[in-house]
Amino acid sequence: MENQSFRRTALHRLYEAPAYDTSTWPDSHWRKGAEAPRCAPLVGEARTDFAIVGAGVTGLNAALELVEASGAEVAVLDAAQPGWAASGRNGGFVSLGGSKLSDAALVRRFGREGAEAFRAFQKDAIARVARNLDSYSIDADRGPEGEVYLAHREREWRAMRENAEGLRAMHGPGARLIPREELKQAGFGPAGFAGGFYTPLGFPVHPLKYTAGLARAALDRGIRIFGDSPVIALEPEADGCRLSTPKGSLRARRVLIATNGYTSDDLPPWIGGRTLPALSSIHVTRPLTEAERRAQGWTSQVMAADTRHLLHYFRLLPDNRFLFGMRGGLSASPGPLARIRAEGRRHLEAMFPEWAHVETESFWSGLVCLTGSLTPFAGEVPGSPGLFAAFGWHGSGMATGTLAGRMVARAMTGASSPAPLVLRSPPKRFPLPNLRRAWLGAAYAWYKMADGPVRAQR
Ligand SMILES: Cc1cc2nc3c(=O)[nH]c(=O)nc-3n(C[C@H](O)[C@H](O)[C@H](O)COP(=O)(O)OP(=O)(O)OC[C@H]3O[C@@H](n4cnc5c(N)ncnc54)[C@H](O)[C@@H]3O)c2cc1C
Repeated sequence: MENQSFRRTALHRLYEAPAYDTSTWPDSHWRKGAEAPRCAPLVGEARTDFAIVGAGVTGLNAALELVEASGAEVAVLDAAQPGWAASGRNGGFVSLGGSKLSDAALVRRFGREGAEAFRAFQKDAIARVARNLDSYSIDADRGPEGEVYLAHREREWRAMRENAEGLRAMHGPGARLIPREELKQAGFGPAGFAGGFYTPLGFPVHPLKYTAGLARAALDRGIRIFGDSPVIALEPEADGCRLSTPKGSLRARRVLIATNGYTSDDLPPWIGGRTLPALSSIHVTRPLTEAERRAQGWTSQVMAADTRHLLHYFRLLPDNRFLFGMRGGLSASPGPLARIRAEGRRHLEAMFPEWAHVETESFWSGLVCLTGSLTPFAGEVPGSPGLFAAFGWHGSGMATGTLAGRMVARAMTGASSPAPLVLRSPPKRFPLPNLRRAWLGAAYAWYKMADGPVRAQR
């Protein structure tokens, strides 16, 4: 691990300080109905077999797998508390995803077999979340099966129709196209969408209840979780590594970095410039009455997303609040965040005009993680035996992070890693990494133009 040694007083990160301010939790809807266990910081010297940095779904699944598979001692360190970051504040879509490459590009880069293995991984990842809910008895308000992708224009609907056979083969029995005239009847008004594709894969959950449930399961199995313990130094030693926090230090044989969108560019130095954290933001409204739901024609609790590059994702929650999320924004400072909030609200009202009078009760943002190769990673840091990393879920970490965390844990025990080639291939650095936010700005501008205006979907 020698080449990955670092020591800092302040971590080097891409966004403004408020994005990483662990002294407060985001004002998310989820915090109103759930709480994660509060974990005391690491104080003094400690030792463990495996140390994990990051107590989100990835780190917690890795910790659980390590204990279940090897019975070894495991400790998790988090700069905040379990579920404080993306895992406890996301949209709760347990769905396919993990890469931003098209299917054709995946085949070109990893071969047909590699692309198919990654597809199978995504399905297994959804099943693994379901298994976790059962085996750890986590009640996370699991919603109905499936997800609908809504074509925001005729062009995207035509592509869905042309691709229908391939889509059905990929998504399995129950997958189907929904023509425009049937959308409202299926509970997916407004009728302005040009059509939709329903996949039976995936289901929604309360993300903080899921993450908190994992943390409780970990504590119950003797895993130590240290909250308020940012790792500020990583130094190799004869038989492993020493991780330092402001109040203590932890020696470990093997280390996993599971910090995803909250990664700093020097933990470890290898990761620098390979990640591109991006903001995603969510509005949750007050509960909608039955009359309001009918007026808009949106009555289903199935997860939904549109076909934009800068996609909107939305769903009715079990108590009939409406969750509406979108990507965008280049700064986590208060002024730009207020503008993201206003833009999200404009989009919600344009797409669901019957709800223009329905106020937002909670709004918050967080960081997802893209990589320089647009593919996720879960494996050993090249040239650094004993040091592992798992990150780059491209906005779909609920399922992907869950299974990738498990797979990287197996690799940490020395078992041959079952992770597909896509996840074992280290992502490239972004060219001129200091300009990453400028690249993102340019991509957003291009996507907005390509996607066209957000129109009323009557
Ligand atoms: C608004 C929003 C909506 C989203 N919606 C969805 C969705 O619907 N479905 C879906 O699948 N995905 C969604 N995502 C993405 C998903 O939440 C993430 O991919 C996933 O939660 C990542 O999990 P993780 O455990 O890898 O990282 P995180 O949950 O982000 O956890 C990383 C942890 O690392 C810790 N950390 C960082 N640096 C240090 C350090 N130096 N020392 C100690 N600890 C450190 C942080 O405190 C944090 O707790 C969304 C994300 C956001 C922000």
